[in-house]
Amino acid sequence: MKLNEIDLRVSLKKYFGFSQFKGLQEQVVKTILQGENTFVIMPTGGGKSLCYQLPALMQEGTAIVVSPLIALMKNQVDAIRGLSSEMGVAHVLNSSLTKTEIKQVKKDISSGVTKLLYVAPESLTKEEYVDFLQKEKISFVAVDEAHCISEWGHDFRPEYRNLKAIVNRLGDNIPLIALTATATPKVQEDIIKNLGINDAKIFLASFNRPNLYYEVRPKTQNVDSDIIRFVKQNSGKSGIIYCLSRKRVEELAQVLQVNGISAVPYHAGFDAKTRSKHQDMFLMEDVDVVVATIAFGMGIDKPDVRFVIHHDIPKSIESYYQETGRAGRDGGEGHCLAFYSYKDVEKLEKFMSGKPVAEQEIGNALLQEIVGYAETSISRRKFILHYFGEEFDEVNGEGADMDDNTRNPKEKHEAKDNVVK
Ligand code: ADP
Ligand code: MG
Repeated sequence: MKLNEIDLRVSLKKYFGFSQFKGLQEQVVKTILQGENTFVIMPTGGGKSLCYQLPALMQEGTAIVVSPLIALMKNQVDAIRGLSSEMGVAHVLNSSLTKTEIKQVKKDISSGVTKLLYVAPESLTKEEYVDFLQKEKISFVAVDEAHCISEWGHDFRPEYRNLKAIVNRLGDNIPLIALTATATPKVQEDIIKNLGINDAKIFLASFNRPNLYYEVRPKTQNVDSDIIRFVKQNSGKSGIIYCLSRKRVEELAQVLQVNGISAVPYHAGFDAKTRSKHQDMFLMEDVDVVVATIAFGMGIDKPDVRFVIHHDIPKSIESYYQETGRAGRDGGEGHCLAFYSYKDVEKLEKFMSGKPVAEQEIGNALLQEIVGYAETSISRRKFILHYFGEEFDEVNGEGADMDDNTRNPKEKHEAKDNVVK
């Protein structure tokens, strides 16, 4: 296929109705269309899906998209179908389908109608599907949320580690596209190694979120009052408060409610109906605040979350970045406030001590990094970006004054006090 920028813009408009590519999308699409292995590292909200969806729609054959969550797959399939007149353009293949549905999916793939086939990694291992897909024309395999491959990532899924072997069985030289919002060098190495894509073209976007304000406060016995005060100062704004335990989630939600704040709790211990009800209440703005464990958030696309509070220290910088990343998606204000006490670190260490040694070592190393973040006196943005292997200019960089340490440097205050004395 001969490609130039105008062709791609026309296709972008035709399939998605957008006039402009975002960030590195155009180069990525080009590379995928050229049949190369590709590795895309872009922050959440960066527009990774389009990077594989557009080339899939433009090419012959079916692109297989591996994704870890059924809810995510369904959303994407609905979105793609909404753009097309052809229902069969995108399908999900999973264990919940009836025989008749599976037959339809296979028919659409064989007839060339299906451009995108979403599968969970465990479905892809099924012999029946492998046998079928071997005979079909596969344009490429995209591995979304590719950090699930790595134990150093925040969402390790062992099934992801078998993907390479299956892709090999599907055919020779099927291009592999890995996509993730995890920028740590360790995770990247794991992904490249495991998928065997040493030759991949790598697209690495900046992880700087200049509209987010980062702040750490000491966690005292009055943490609940501190949170209530903060939320009241931001009344009418949407926010997420993360707690480590389900018990704390429920307690804190109640404390907020008693204090006149509209809040709902969310954690994986609630039944599906309650979870989706509380999630919808937050999305529809029936309540301002959701108090949640980390079970809340993946795939949640609320653009105007104005604050993300961490009642407890998260388990890594990576997790912290992902969780705070849900604030200010629309480019507007996003206040990221973490409460920190070394006691919490000790709690987490104790919690990990029951786990296998290798897991403990990883867990402790990640934890020490977030302790470093909490205790640092340098620009918090610089600290986070450095962790992702990115250089940040704390004087002229975008968002340079958007953290507590930069706005109120500790040393300078002390120096001033000394002069006054
Ligand atoms: P990611 O997977 O990187 O987190 P998504 O693929 O979910 O991001 O895209 C985030 C949002 O950006 C979506 O709402 C999508 O429609 C939008 N988007 C993607 N590309 C473009 C574009 N070129 N122009 C406008 N909006 C875009
Ligand atoms: Mg995505």
